[in-house]
Amino acid sequence: MELSSKDLQRLERASHPRSEFAERGDDGIWRLRNAEGHCVFLEPKSKACMVYSLRPLGCYIYPVNLGPDDTLIVDVICPAGESLTAEEKKKKGASLRRHLREIDAQAKQK
Ligand code: SF4
Repeated sequence: MELSSKDLQRLERASHPRSEFAERGDDGIWRLRNAEGHCVFLEPKSKACMVYSLRPLGCYIYPVNLGPDDTLIVDVICPAGESLTAEEKKKKGASLRRHLREIDAQAKQK
């Protein structure tokens, strides 16, 4: 999951050291770290997100995502996708495109 500067700062302000939850790729983009095959913030037994109220915007937007041809897709493995209306999908898609543009711009700045 790609992270914007706002995502990083929000989690750091809540006393999560960046080095513990994020890593920066060769493309300059920060992403959530995985540990033992899942996000470091996932509590494996309960399947709960330990930072739900502070979760990255991309997690909030999920299960809407972009397909390889830049079309909006809804990840079928997420049951929440079944209740998404066309309007919600459109709004989340617009948010996602803005979010990814912001992340790309931030990666180029640093
Ligand atoms: S919702 Fe929480 S556990 Fe899931 S990927 Fe996002 S930060 Fe990790």
